[in-house]
Amino acid sequence: MSVLETSESALCHENIEKQLSGQLDRVTIYRILHGFCEDGKIHKISGENGKTYYALCHDCSHERHNDNHLHFHCVSCNHVFCMDAPALITPLPPGYDVQTVSCIVSGYCPSCSG
Ligand SMILES: [Zn+2]
Ligand SMILES: [Zn+2]
Ligand SMILES: [Zn+2]
Repeated sequence: MSVLETSESALCHENIEKQLSGQLDRVTIYRILHGFCEDGKIHKISGENGKTYYALCHDCSHERHNDNHLHFHCVSCNHVFCMDAPALITPLPPGYDVQTVSCIVSGYCPSCSG
């Protein structure tokens, strides 16, 4: 998905739709995004503003996503960034099999805080 590959931050669903409108319809875009998620190409991020963001995966397989990293939501430019830091800091008791972790930190990104 070239829209996501060229973007340095995660894109929200609306944004992707906007960029692809004219080329693809809503349903097709939704289906493509869903397929990419299942293939381990992109991952979903649920923003605290209720929006869904998508970002490229780096180290994921079809079977399992490896995306348990922190996300940063900039309250100024509204971008969501993937952080190279693990989201799960506290180890869970045995028997809990983590599938997804959604951890969002919000604040100002480098280009907005300066
Ligand atoms: Zn992934
Ligand atoms: Zn920002
Ligand atoms: Zn991410």
